[in-house]
Amino acid sequence: MSQILAAHSGSVEATSQQKGGPNSDQASAGTWQSQMKSAVRDGKQLCELLGLSPELACRSAAAEFPVFAPMSYVARMKPEDASDPLLQQVLARSIEVSSKAGTGSLSEAAGLPSQSQLPLARSGCEDPVGDLNAERAPGLLQKYRRRVLMITTGACAVHCRYCFRRHYPYDSVPKGKSGLQGSIDLIARDSSIDEVILSGGDPLTLPDERLSWLCSQLDDINHVRRIRFHTRVPVVIPQRVCESLLEWVSASRSAMFFVLHFNHANEINDSVRQAMQELRKAGATLLNQAVLLCDVNSTWEAQRDLCLSLADMQVLPYYLHQLDPVRGAMHFEVSDEEAIAIHARLQAELPGYAVPKLVREIAGMESKTPVTEL
Ligand SMILES: *Cc1c(COP(=O)(O)O)cnc(C)c1O
Ligand code: SF4
Repeated sequence: MSQILAAHSGSVEATSQQKGGPNSDQASAGTWQSQMKSAVRDGKQLCELLGLSPELACRSAAAEFPVFAPMSYVARMKPEDASDPLLQQVLARSIEVSSKAGTGSLSEAAGLPSQSQLPLARSGCEDPVGDLNAERAPGLLQKYRRRVLMITTGACAVHCRYCFRRHYPYDSVPKGKSGLQGSIDLIARDSSIDEVILSGGDPLTLPDERLSWLCSQLDDINHVRRIRFHTRVPVVIPQRVCESLLEWVSASRSAMFFVLHFNHANEINDSVRQAMQELRKAGATLLNQAVLLCDVNSTWEAQRDLCLSLADMQVLPYYLHQLDPVRGAMHFEVSDEEAIAIHARLQAELPGYAVPKLVREIAGMESKTPVTEL
């Protein structure tokens, strides 16, 4: 019952067949809205576009959480490579629904102590980070002091197989301006809140008119000092950083933060670099949060390349997250021992500003929890 429904986000309708290979004109053509409309929504089709066997795609995994990948992202995958790190992030595979997907981590198998042996169902659950207990109002979460997180929409520009919100009940989130108004009113009444995080889903799937309105409402609240976007849209569809977006970003009185979500250096191309530069020129501070994912970015070299490529774009690595144990994604889990070893190597080799904090989210804690040796 996935409700992260890019596919159902009203204005975005399924379109006709894709034509041409992944490097065809569709990769960079048109507006971000047309990228959303022409996104690949079928695993078999995705495999065919890449010259791979359609057998790699799994229909029952896609039934739990549909495939959704814009051509601008697919174009960065390597054809005929079933282990491509970008493909792994979006293709629904049978391992998600097989019973094996829920077995324990490598550290447990080795009998080693691990923070991941905290009381979490190893098969993964539907609300691994306690979102439903942190609701202050419908669609408004508060877990930490000073900052609230607004679920602005259920739609995303890509469906990431490891997503911890893949089971979030987005249908219950209030919709439209009137839906957001309740959260805005609550923030206005609580002067302990000085930062508002716009999340989802992905806030940048909303039209600029709505985002511009929302930021100006928040700007009108004196105690709100910072507005933060948690978004993967500029990664997958860099065209989203368009004139009208840059207009409201630069117009905001509040300090603007964009926490992007790059997981692999192959996700960075010239269009992405340009989008990051435009966001910076508009006055935004750029940070990145990545998730450590087995067979996607779980080597120290992959992390080094990602962190340095980000730093080259002046996007600072902020967090490297251990996987949230969500059902259907446990095959991505990396043991704490391996994670700590990768992180230590980054620390030894990279400038301090290019090393993200290795953390995991534990329900009920006052902040994200650093992953350290016990
Ligand atoms: C992760 C998260 C934040 C942000 O935490 P920071 O450490 O400030 O990046 C805020 N609210 C909620 C509900 C979160 O899950
Ligand atoms: S990780 Fe982010 S962009 Fe990906 S599906 Fe989840 S909410 Fe959407």
